[in-house]
Amino acid sequence: MERVKTGIKKCQDYLPFMEGESLREIDILTDKLKDKRIAMVNATEYGGGVAEILHSLVPLFKGLGFAMDWWKMFGEEEFYNVTKTFHNRLQGEAGPLKDKEVETYLKYIKLNAREMTRWDYDFVVIHDPQPAGLIDFRKGGEGTKWIWRCHIDTSEPNREYWDFLYRFIIKYDASIFTMRQFVKEDAHLKNIHYITPSIDPLSEKNIPMEKEEAKRTVSRFGINVNRPLITQISRFDPWKDPLGVIEAYKLVKKEFPSVQLALVGSMASDDPEGWDYLYRTLRRAGEDYDITIITNFNGITSKEVNAFQTASEIIIQKSLREGFGLTVAEGLWKGTPVIGGKAGGIKLQIEEGVTGYLVETVEECAEKILTLLRNTSLAEEMTRAGKEKVRKEFLITSALLNYLRLFNYLL
Ligand code: UDP
Repeated sequence: MERVKTGIKKCQDYLPFMEGESLREIDILTDKLKDKRIAMVNATEYGGGVAEILHSLVPLFKGLGFAMDWWKMFGEEEFYNVTKTFHNRLQGEAGPLKDKEVETYLKYIKLNAREMTRWDYDFVVIHDPQPAGLIDFRKGGEGTKWIWRCHIDTSEPNREYWDFLYRFIIKYDASIFTMRQFVKEDAHLKNIHYITPSIDPLSEKNIPMEKEEAKRTVSRFGINVNRPLITQISRFDPWKDPLGVIEAYKLVKKEFPSVQLALVGSMASDDPEGWDYLYRTLRRAGEDYDITIITNFNGITSKEVNAFQTASEIIIQKSLREGFGLTVAEGLWKGTPVIGGKAGGIKLQIEEGVTGYLVETVEECAEKILTLLRNTSLAEEMTRAGKEKVRKEFLITSALLNYLRLFNYLL
């Protein structure tokens, strides 16, 4: 395992977005938990929502004076192939659990567990299935509290894979899910808590950007800023349904010929399937020059993501399964209308017709895109409601407070 380097963020800087009461509670809990040492463990430092959250949450904890380490698991292609299969199967893909997968998974768990012999933490937070098996190597008896944080949509998991994972998560002192529907009724887990993922309003991705600057930035990628742009920002993953987005765009294009589509995606280091799916998406787009498909390999960093979210007429997140979908909160925070798939955590963020639209099919998605393109005042009302919902419920300081409450509770 490798320690991920992070900076420090001050909680006070977030005051403009917080209720004063929350800051007071953060101070009280920090005082109670003062000397506690905490580890966060996940599979990747870059790409995807978990890394995005840890890049803000860890510096905030450090800013409060906590000794917090972020550990990134060691892995190689064979491990990532297996854990990506786990991810897909836990989100419901059919297929039998293979002995070889179990063997590879356990091999890497054992390798990573070597680092733990030197650990001396009060709380260990394990993110997602990749490092879940590390619990078998816990030491320190009752002293260290182990928490499993599930970021994925486990509402209808492949049973064999869920049962395999369950062997581990049942051993944790507490578990965190994004929403109730993700916990199986027959799961006898200790201390289940619900915490939604969240965005950092002061990160480069989310700080306000002038529309003009955003337009200049997206124009560098071939976007014509005088014509409407719809964008989906996500990994190239079947559950994110980029192919469905292209189909919806094609339907819109027939009635609204000036529309353009951008698919902006990061290639996460623990997602080997991403490349195959990127090529499939490129094939589906064919020679339509109004479709722009770009990744971090084309110079997409947080600043460019911010620009696309700010400059677009509509943000799409047409997921078929979704743990949360930070890109929805990010879009709403920019004041851009969002159309999301009616799945998992997107349903927590989009209130139908109030903060955005929820869609289940390509046709519905196209219809809602047309509605918003044709009715800009409707879009304005929704974005006001959407931004306020994000401020109240989905900012990183809420997650910070919820983690502090959980640590305090476990003491
Ligand atoms: N993201 C990014 N660059 C990209 C695509 C995505 O920085 O080209 C970020 C996106 O802004 C969001 C995160 O990656 O912060 C994706 O989180 P989400 O919860 O939407 O999906 P996940 O990848 O975790 O399934």
